[in-house]
Amino acid sequence: VQNKEAILLRYHEIALKGDNRGWFEDKLASNVRKLVSRALGQDESVEVHQQHGRMILEANWNKETQTALSRVFGLSSFSPMKRVPTDREAIQNAILAEAENYIKKHGFPESFRVKTRRSEKAWPETSPQIDTFLGGPVKDKYPLLRVDLKNPQLLIGLELRFKESYIWTEKFSAEGGLPVGSNAPLLALMSGGLDSPVAAIQVLRRGSSCSFIHFYGTPFVGPEALEKVQDLVRIVNRYQADPQPLHVIPFGKTQEKIALQVSPRFRTILYRRMMLRIANRVAQKLKLNALVTGESLGQVASQTVENLATINSVSKLPVFRPLIGFNKDEIIEKAHRWGTFDIAIRPAVDCCTLFSDRHPILRSTETLVEEEESKFSVQELEEEAFAGMEIHPAF
Ligand code: ATP
Ligand code: MG
Repeated sequence: VQNKEAILLRYHEIALKGDNRGWFEDKLASNVRKLVSRALGQDESVEVHQQHGRMILEANWNKETQTALSRVFGLSSFSPMKRVPTDREAIQNAILAEAENYIKKHGFPESFRVKTRRSEKAWPETSPQIDTFLGGPVKDKYPLLRVDLKNPQLLIGLELRFKESYIWTEKFSAEGGLPVGSNAPLLALMSGGLDSPVAAIQVLRRGSSCSFIHFYGTPFVGPEALEKVQDLVRIVNRYQADPQPLHVIPFGKTQEKIALQVSPRFRTILYRRMMLRIANRVAQKLKLNALVTGESLGQVASQTVENLATINSVSKLPVFRPLIGFNKDEIIEKAHRWGTFDIAIRPAVDCCTLFSDRHPILRSTETLVEEEESKFSVQELEEEAFAGMEIHPAF
């Protein structure tokens, strides 16, 4: 069944990928299908056709579709379109109707132009000739309306095809990036703070899907801490076509045992090293290729260069820190844009602050840290925490 309406999807970066281009386009199209169908609450997948470096989504324009498309990484922009039979008079009339509509809604524009993209050579004339011809009736009806080819206030776009063509006037920008699934999957360490969900979405935007792990301070923190992480995961999962599970490691007792044995100044670093060891295990089990954290250089005591180095050194897998060079206000701006802010600022205790010291060491060394770790059985605690893992299926 053909809809009257359709949506034009544009993409940039993946168009540059040479021989892999078709593969990237298939990923992008499949992500659009899944994310839009999910947003519309429909089991049946929406149709997406690939055409000449653009895609056409067979769907009506509404708020849900618009929101879903704004979350598909790899798209650069999109436009709701009307279908017209490829007939000179029909297209002229449709373009005139668009102009009249625009004037009714927004008042008389400064300037206008028609812009034809002739990816199928339905007509022999050049695109500029076609533009002038199709804009004719608009010019006749509104002689004072100036044509501006460079920067028109009203741009009427035409995608010219053999049988049916498409007209659009509105263009919404999307996030760009690469389609999720075009790069290897990762494991994101989710704390419940502002930074980690933004970090996870940053790597989704570069094409890696994310599974999630949370170290839960139970029994010393309440269920609100876990609920907050679940809510954040739900938001991050909106950006991937296949939502991923949350792995929860009970961690409060582990921290208590560490805290009782070591010098207080080292507690936080030792917790973080333990988290990375366990995250490595989980990632290897799930065949994930790297970890992602929300660390940013110098933001807190555990994020000095020296402390990041001693934390990092226990990880066999690469640890990606997409926020390393971000200021807090830049992170907050992204949290607002991506919808994680309101949840992230809900009050809840993160386990990292459990039994933590007011004056943590700022310049740890491997030797100092290993000396502290020799005071308890690292392996035993690691095994114990890992054994308590619970998996919350994708939601
Ligand atoms: P966030 O805003 O993400 O909580 P933060 O600025 O509070 O980060 P830290 O608490 O030092 O900084 O945590 C740094 C990173 O370590 C987090 O972004 C997250 O990736 C990881 N992390 C910290 N605590 C946990 C936890 N309880 N479970 C999983 N990952 C965690
Ligand atoms: Mg935190």
